[in-house]
Amino acid sequence: MEQQDDDAQTELSPRTKVVALGRPARTPGAALNPPVTFTSTYIADGPANYARVSNPTWTPLEEAVGELEGGEALVFSSGMAAVSAVLALVPAGGVVVAPASAYNGVVVTLAEAVEEGRLTVRWVDVTDDEAVTAALPGADLLWLESPTNPLLDIADIRALTAAAHAAGALVAVDNTFATPLLQRPLEDDVDVVVHSATKYLAGHSDVLLGITVTPVRGRAIHDRLARRRLLGGAIAGPMEAWLALRGLRTLSLRLERACDNAAELSRRLTDHPRIARVRYPGWGAIVSVEVDGEGDGATAAEAFAAGTRIWSNSTSLGGVESQLERRRRQPGEPEAVPVNLVRMSVGVEDVDDLWADLVQALDAL
Ligand SMILES: *Cc1c(COP(=O)(O)O)cnc(C)c1O
Repeated sequence: MEQQDDDAQTELSPRTKVVALGRPARTPGAALNPPVTFTSTYIADGPANYARVSNPTWTPLEEAVGELEGGEALVFSSGMAAVSAVLALVPAGGVVVAPASAYNGVVVTLAEAVEEGRLTVRWVDVTDDEAVTAALPGADLLWLESPTNPLLDIADIRALTAAAHAAGALVAVDNTFATPLLQRPLEDDVDVVVHSATKYLAGHSDVLLGITVTPVRGRAIHDRLARRRLLGGAIAGPMEAWLALRGLRTLSLRLERACDNAAELSRRLTDHPRIARVRYPGWGAIVSVEVDGEGDGATAAEAFAAGTRIWSNSTSLGGVESQLERRRRQPGEPEAVPVNLVRMSVGVEDVDDLWADLVQALDAL
């Protein structure tokens, strides 16, 4: 008990951790930042013999994100590489319970595995605890995303994880939208957290990278994921890993501004006559809107996204730059996503400039 109190007192704020973690040892003359190691191999008889096994440039990023999430991290070449490694934990012919609407790369991967007869997927609404629980008996994996991309549905991670564990299923949570600064699923007993570090963690729309994090009790899963990375070969380039760590240093600043902007813009958008619906869970920096227009509104939504000048009409999210996109223009986007829905990744620019740009694009419809 006393030990716990001591730990609580010395526990650093995540705002400090993003800056302080993953630094070289403070020996006189040492560099403040880790170096980038460009090599494919190592001199024999050391801890690693080949750079598909490990690269010292991955380590500080893994230490930092692992500590922020409260577990052990592995960096992958992209978010989808991390997703694929986790899905490979499911045995052939296994059962996955997954959101009917989530990141389309995950939904399409699962749907194709079903078509090819490799997996069974039970599609659920993650906001419906009863429906998710009813789908769990016999499942190998519960896949959650919260908030979901792009509907911003919120799952009760703690309750659903307990239900999944009672049914003998593992639980994976895609924490890309929340980041460990806003949500730490391992504290809810989840078995593996997945990130597209391409988004908020790296934060500058200049790298693709993925990360898995497993709790310390989940060493066996960590080892299986590391083996998938080694043999599947979806390893991070050293420059990308370095850039992501560099981006992580400002995560708390970027996220604070982006979240403030998103909260303010979601309020203002609610009152705009061309906006039929605003989806915003009350936190985070993504806002999805449904645009009012002729017919199903798809044409108006497309024109809105194309008509902005500061916001870029581009896919992806989580950078310092505000971006927006009509999601159904993407092949494979789940049909649960309305055709007039525009996902807005709110950046760190001045909120009044962002608002003025949205208003001129909406007024031009
Ligand atoms: C972008 C994204 C992914 C995929 O990540 P990549 O880095 O593009 O491979 C996975 N999940 C969510 C929620 C995402 O937004």
